[in-house]
Amino acid sequence: LAHKPELVAIDKARNPHLSATFVSKPLISGVLEKSKLLPVLNPSDPTDTVGTVQQATAADVATALSAATPWKADASERAEILCRVADLYEENFGKLFALLSREAGKIQLDVVGELREAVDFLRFYAAESLKQNASSAGLFTCISPWNFPLAIFTGQISAALAAGNGVLAKPAEQTPLIAVAAVALFHEAGVPRKVLQLLPGDGPTVGAALTSDPRISGVAFTGSTETAQIIRRAMAANMEPSATLIAETGGLNAMIVDSTALPEQAVQSIVESAFQSAGQRCSALRCLYVQEDIAPHFTKMLFGAMDELAIGNPWEHATDVGPVIDAEAKADIDAYVSKARAEGRVMKELKSPVEGFFVAPVAIHVNSIAEMEREIFGPVLHITTFKSHEIDDVVAAINATGYGLTFGLHTRIDDRVQHIVERLHAGNIYVNRNQIGAVVGSQPFGGEGLSGTGPKAGGPHYLPRFCKSKTKEVTEAPTT
Ligand code: NAD
Repeated sequence: LAHKPELVAIDKARNPHLSATFVSKPLISGVLEKSKLLPVLNPSDPTDTVGTVQQATAADVATALSAATPWKADASERAEILCRVADLYEENFGKLFALLSREAGKIQLDVVGELREAVDFLRFYAAESLKQNASSAGLFTCISPWNFPLAIFTGQISAALAAGNGVLAKPAEQTPLIAVAAVALFHEAGVPRKVLQLLPGDGPTVGAALTSDPRISGVAFTGSTETAQIIRRAMAANMEPSATLIAETGGLNAMIVDSTALPEQAVQSIVESAFQSAGQRCSALRCLYVQEDIAPHFTKMLFGAMDELAIGNPWEHATDVGPVIDAEAKADIDAYVSKARAEGRVMKELKSPVEGFFVAPVAIHVNSIAEMEREIFGPVLHITTFKSHEIDDVVAAINATGYGLTFGLHTRIDDRVQHIVERLHAGNIYVNRNQIGAVVGSQPFGGEGLSGTGPKAGGPHYLPRFCKSKTKEVTEAPTT
């Protein structure tokens, strides 16, 4: 693996946002109700209070809903303003960088990638809306997760706005500060306050109110499969049957490595796919199938590569694995790993040299992906083996999970690539490379089955789902 430079920390004196305290409130059109302020903690250093957030109340949601309006500006003005937002994101790099690092605990590589993706979404949907002449006059609720608190948040909102909708956005409870900073830039660029309103708050109160109001014509949701199912039921009970749900959800992502794979290439892509972002990517590799005859040698190489991972403070340039998002996430993953340890299934485990909400990368043995009951959202890789003639059974077991987000394959047999790709259900398939990528415009991202409704974000089919299709029926007047 790559040579590690000496540890160099970011110089806090050069970016005041790295030590500032942020105070954020809901951004709505109307008068806010008074409500309590909640602290937002830094996952890599819980003694660092990044700021406070005022949660939206039920009354704030009602105020926002009654003020909300579609964006009536014409398509070219909307596109121009969204491109201005992209420029403002770039100009405010220092602030957004500090927030992604401190509020979401992201390492520098992830921060830079996420900022790039957010800017790309803005410019991509602006351009697509002109190309497709997208138009709508609805109200969209956008609900986002904490793991890409800027990129996914921005992607949903910019698509809805590019099509001319009004937007009510609810960020994840863990990452409200970056959302407030981002929406302030939309307003600064010229998106009217009534057109884009932000309501930080919890899922069961604010999220539920925004996904069960008949004035809403569509919901863009990214998060867990369970929450998507709750939202689907709430929409069915309260909204018009034509209301749109775009859901991007979880996965049980697998990779197959056969005996013809290039071992160095496969090892590197496994380490990146399973442990980058501390495994907190929906696309992350969860279950590795290694062909039995190479397994002893291959896993030895893999565990050697894991030993090279630097776990620690996201400030350090050389850190590969930062913290998980909060104490609850750490407790959940630690309990899962402890159970596997007690069952004698832990094959390789690193140790975290630092305190805070860190979970060290770990590899756990399973007999089949069928044993994995749920998505463990952290740096936990499951490993199993297969014999060459069992490859179709492996594909069937992966399909039988019902999820279909990402899948990786390392082989040098061309026929095998074709054979598997034809049979495996997954929205994004990666051959002989890592399986964490989504590239706006060229590699759209989305899942099948329990992993999402489609269409893929960052692709040409995404925007039309934010538009109401109007079929004009012309009935001739009856002649007498
Ligand atoms: P989550 O489902 O717990 O929360 C997501 C959002 O839903 C949050 O804003 C939350 O407040 C809100 N919410 C919760 N209950 C709600 C309710 N009853 N009504 C309305 N909104 C409600 O997910 P998370 O823990 O924030 O994110 C991690 C999950 O997201 C993982 O499962 C991951 O795989 C998935 N994810 C998927 C993609 C993708 O593109 N497919 C991308 C990123 C994350």
